[in-house]
Amino acid sequence: MALVTSKEILKEHDGAVGAFSTYDLFTAQGIVKGGEESGLPVILMIGQPPLNQPGNDYVGQIMVQLAREATVPVCVFLDHSKDYATCMKAMKLGFSAVMIDGSHLPLEENIAITNKVTEAAQALGVSVEAELGALAGIEDGEEAKKAKMTDPSHVEEFLSKTSVDALAVSIGNAHGLYKGEPKLDFERLNTIEEISQDVPLVLHGGTGLTLEQFARGVAIGIRKINIGTEVKTTYIGAFIDTHEKNVSAYDMVGIPQACKNAVTAMVQDKLEFFARGYKALI
Ligand SMILES: [Zn+2]
Repeated sequence: MALVTSKEILKEHDGAVGAFSTYDLFTAQGIVKGGEESGLPVILMIGQPPLNQPGNDYVGQIMVQLAREATVPVCVFLDHSKDYATCMKAMKLGFSAVMIDGSHLPLEENIAITNKVTEAAQALGVSVEAELGALAGIEDGEEAKKAKMTDPSHVEEFLSKTSVDALAVSIGNAHGLYKGEPKLDFERLNTIEEISQDVPLVLHGGTGLTLEQFARGVAIGIRKINIGTEVKTTYIGAFIDTHEKNVSAYDMVGIPQACKNAVTAMVQDKLEFFARGYKALI
């Protein structure tokens, strides 16, 4: 159907849209198919490190091509770029959205780099996501996690001095696999949502959160949910299972297909829950 910006799909649909990490042809195909099977828009994202591997411009090109040919709206998104150059590279490849992550910088510097990227992106019709408050690492204790959470008093200033299309928040969410049950600060999310008004909020670190946590977040105003680690665990899990069924085959044709299908099923399931299923839990 179409390669679309994140601005378009985040504003036009109820619930939240899932964004899934891509590493190669098979993850890209699996994710797009998950969108098609669910009949819902999907965000195909790639992080700065994988995109910047030698030769991986081709993965970016594949992502854009698959989006153009998909039967549902697909946004091709650069996740967590720390620099301007990678954002420009993604735009040159035809991505429809980029994230400039200046969350590790002082507020003024985060605003400055976000504006630099936004100026270029707007000229090309590309959406921009920024982040306020760094995501905690899984090894951080409760105190460190709180210190890194999005400060609601920064949200108004940041949004008044930038013109981003989405804002990633830190409310106790973390990348990677959580140790123990993650705790999210929904009161903080509520406050941020009131301040941010019509700027869609994004929850990173979706792998390992409970369905109740997703539902509560979406009900408050989360419009985009990033799933990275679960793409990897699903893909590698299917790889090991399929290979172990017939070890001597070294089945380079069948194994990637099994991995792709496993990713599709996971993506379909998540997209349906974020768009509709969550309503049953609120
Ligand atoms: Zn993230």
